[in-house]
Amino acid sequence: MRSETAMPTSSMLVMDGKTIIVDCGIGVTRSIVASGVSLLDINAIFITHLHSDHVLELGPLLHTIWTSGLKKPVDVYGPEGIKEYLEAFLQSMQFDNQIRVEDEGRLPLEELINLTIYSEGFVTRLRSIDVQALKVNHPPVEECYALSFDNESKKIVFSADTAYFEPLTKFSHKCDVLVHEAMLMKGVETLLERTPNASRLREHLLASHSTVEEACKIATMAKAKHLVFNHLIPADDPDISDEDFLAEGKNGFSGQLTVGYDGIEITF
Ligand SMILES: [Zn+2]
Ligand SMILES: [Zn+2]
Repeated sequence: MRSETAMPTSSMLVMDGKTIIVDCGIGVTRSIVASGVSLLDINAIFITHLHSDHVLELGPLLHTIWTSGLKKPVDVYGPEGIKEYLEAFLQSMQFDNQIRVEDEGRLPLEELINLTIYSEGFVTRLRSIDVQALKVNHPPVEECYALSFDNESKKIVFSADTAYFEPLTKFSHKCDVLVHEAMLMKGVETLLERTPNASRLREHLLASHSTVEEACKIATMAKAKHLVFNHLIPADDPDISDEDFLAEGKNGFSGQLTVGYDGIEITF
């Protein structure tokens, strides 16, 4: 289904010698391997919220890191509910997990997952990177967090999924890169035309996601240097291209602007 279109949300951040994954949509494991990074080099994984396009492959990623030879724990940070997800995943793989411990002499997978449940505010410090979380506006999901990674010389912020949310401007003040979700309204209209429950979907999209214009407004007020659109809506309309997002984005943001795609690398 997705052979020609973008995969769900996952980003890899390499900063201060740390390799950090933000969100684990389906395809994340394959994308990490394709980028040339060893799964064993992943230090930390952050989940912004529990929608499937952000968490579906967390368990399989951890399991694959484990079978690749994991010996020291991976730090996993997620909002409330993440523990239940991981426990249920481990339970679903109990047969395999147990047999690999007994038969292959591996350490139990659960002992190699160092889980932290975070909420708003300070999350952790990874070497010199200060990680902060801001609860954003993504109804009906209560626990959804923008994340900021700041080592005092560079700062990158991920908006996560959110409707227009003004506190993000302060949170991402003067950041080097703001990765913000973006929805192109002309594409949304076409998407709704071919959707059976259009009015419900329209309500959901408008209440819980940001338009390109809104993402630009946040980036401008935040004085962000570089705005990167991700989580594009629509993502699978052949009549909507990156140029459409770019053209509309340029109307609202005068800094560096990039439209994200699978495998894109951004240096900052
Ligand atoms: Zn979401
Ligand atoms: Zn999403």
